[in-house]
Formats: sequence, structure tokens, C-alpha cells
Amino acid sequence: MPKKKTAADTAETSGTTKTAEPAKPTITKTVKFHIHASKEQGNDFCALTSAYAEACEYVSGYVFDHEFILNANTLQGFLYQTVRERYGLKSQMAVSVLKTVVSKYKTVETQLASKPYKYIATEDGKDVTKYIPRTLKWLQEPIHFKRPQADLVHGRDYSFVDNGTALSLNTLGKRTRVAFDVPECFKGYFDGTWKFGTGKLVKLLGEWYFHIPATKEIDEAAAKPSHIVGLDRGLRFLVTAYDDTCKTTFFKGSDIMRKRQAFADTRAELQAKGTRSAKRALKRISGRENRWMSDVNHQISKTLVQSYGKGTLFVLEDLAGVSFAEENLSRSRKGRRELRSWPFYQFDQFLKYKALEAGSSVINVPAAYTSQRCPLCGRIHKENRDHKQHEYLCDGCGYRSNDDRIGAMNLYDLGIMYASGNKEPGLRLRK
Ligand SMILES: [Zn+2]
Repeated sequence: MPKKKTAADTAETSGTTKTAEPAKPTITKTVKFHIHASKEQGNDFCALTSAYAEACEYVSGYVFDHEFILNANTLQGFLYQTVRERYGLKSQMAVSVLKTVVSKYKTVETQLASKPYKYIATEDGKDVTKYIPRTLKWLQEPIHFKRPQADLVHGRDYSFVDNGTALSLNTLGKRTRVAFDVPECFKGYFDGTWKFGTGKLVKLLGEWYFHIPATKEIDEAAAKPSHIVGLDRGLRFLVTAYDDTCKTTFFKGSDIMRKRQAFADTRAELQAKGTRSAKRALKRISGRENRWMSDVNHQISKTLVQSYGKGTLFVLEDLAGVSFAEENLSRSRKGRRELRSWPFYQFDQFLKYKALEAGSSVINVPAAYTSQRCPLCGRIHKENRDHKQHEYLCDGCGYRSNDDRIGAMNLYDLGIMYASGNKEPGLRLRK
């Protein structure tokens, strides 16, 4: 399926949090059920999800035309009745529409803020790089909600019935009951320790699915971490780990990147062909590549979490900021794009999930200067890094090291700052 690039598409990741504070250790897993809808139920679901999407479109247009009111309560005062009457939604779902739209706008707002507009100005005869922060006002049109789907609140719009073997769902008309395939891993979710969040009803390739986030509180990781590990992500090494025994571990990325390139070449070839069989092959290949890349991420995150054990604090750079950190402007365009691609985000998610399960934690810290600072004397000097030789040589104290290690060492230092009470650690240029 060709993916259209719209603001709504880029907002798909709204569930992730980027706070540096692992305040309340909970773990969330989204469980996807394939549901057995009869033809009639399928029609009901079509009507519901279309009405829901149209209501979101309407509210989105309103938000766009009214100075971006991003408060669901305020919007409720203006729009609740109209949304209920015009789209025939039940009370809770009308409220969900408002919340869904507000949360997408907030996600897009964050994304825009992290991508300031860059231009070159001339000051006193010199070229200076300037940035203008982007706000929602930069949007040219409302965020679209074209895909038919509906959000159903647990306890109100959906519940498990028949000992967890069937779902009872609200539609525009009568409530309806459907059986679903119970994923093997899901069987343990009814032990009372999991809370079910707002579910999403979606249609994929002609079949109906219901996605439910399940959240569980887990044991508070030890207040003082027993290990701190800085993790630098890159292209030559997917991950470089630096720990409190001064040990550096490299997870080689070049083989993986070569394989991704091979996949990309095959894809381009098939795309150029454009025949129907080429299109089918294309679909197969992209699925295979995704599964294989996910597997790599699973393996690396699992190895890290298992080898360091309980109570480890893993420190990662915040990928949202990576593309704008001054230091990264020197990377190639392709390199920067790779760093923002989904495998890197997925690694974050896998590591967070596995770490929490193992009683460890993960924090994200700003990426700024992590590859320019000398971990020995603290001097920040861009020219100390030689990209071609992959070497870092401090012009202040003479410290010399592999440049991939420098990033991990600085992230480790930020982890130390965090563990000693600075909840927003970051590197700053000192004059
Ligand atoms: Zn130094």
C-alpha cells in the first residue's frame, strides 16, 4: 500500500513518552486481536469507524480554524452536541473524538518544535545559521483523519465477556458481541495485575482488528542504580555501550546496514518494474526486512538487558533531538536520515520494555555535544573529532580514543549526573 505522507501519518507514534523521568514504573504492551465479525457486524463496524473518522475530521477543522484550542474540555463545551448529533456517536465516543484530535495536534506540535526552520543569514558580512521555531501555525491545512478507525474506552465502549473469550463492543446502534483469536501471550493478562486502556478498532486488508494497550505497574527499580551504561547509536556500530567498569562493547552495524542496502536495492528494482507480480514481491520483501530488523533489535536489547542485570540505568540520546544537534549537521544527509528511521526508535522501545521487565530503567538525554566533549577533561571542541579517521583527540588534555566510544562515554557521564540527582542532565558549552 503506498503510504501518503500527511501530518496525521507522522503522528502515529503518539503513545510514546520522552520524559527523562522514569517516575512511575509501568509497562505497556499493545495486544492486537483478530476479531471474528459477521457480515452484519462488519457493516456496523464500517459505519462506526467511518463516522468516528469523519467526526475527527470535523473537530480537526474546527481546531485548525480556531487558533488551535488544544483543551478537550473546552472543545467539549463547543462541539460535544454537534459531534453526537451529526455523527451519531455515543456519549463516551464523542468525548474520545475530542481527545484523539487534541492528542494528535499535541504530538505534531512537539514534532514541529523539534524541527526548527533553518536558514542562512548574513551578519556583518558573515554567513550565520539561524533557526526559527516551528509552531502549529506552520501547518497549511488541518491534520487529516482519513483512515476509518474508532477509539473505544474500556468499561464504557468495550469489555471482555464470556471469561475473556469474547468482546462486547459499542457501535452506532446496538452493542455487539464478537469472538476473537486469543494470542497465546495474552492468556496471562487476566490475572488482575493488568489494566486495559482505550482500544482501537481498525480494518486491515479486509479483516477487523482490535488493539488494546495493557498496562501493568512493576516493582520500583532500586533508587540507586547498580550499573550505569551509556549507549550510543550510530551507523558503523548500531550500538556502542560504555559501562561502569570502563568496558566498551560494540554491536557492529556495518553488516546490518549492508543488508538493509541490499533490501533497498531489491526494492528499487521491483518498483522500477511496476508489474503486478513485482508489487506482490515488494510487499513480501518489505515484510521480511521488517521482521528481520525487528529481530536484530530484539537480540541486541535482550543481550544488553540480560548481561547487565537488575537495577541498571541505560542512558540513550533523545532521537527527537538528534537531527538538530549541531554536531550531527556534519553527518551526511543519508546518515542523518538513517538515525531517524524506525529501527532506531524501535530499539528504544524494545530496550525500555525489556529493561522495565528486568527491574532496570532507561532514560533519554539530549544528544547535544555528546560526540564533541572530551570525557576526561570536559572540554567541548568540535574539531577534536576526526570523522574520517573515526578518532577523537582532545586538544586540551591529549586524550585519544575511538570516536564511537566518546559518545557512549559522555552518555555514561550524563547517567552519573542523573543518578546523583540532576533530573535533566545535559551538556552545555562553557565559555
Ligand atoms: Zn580532554
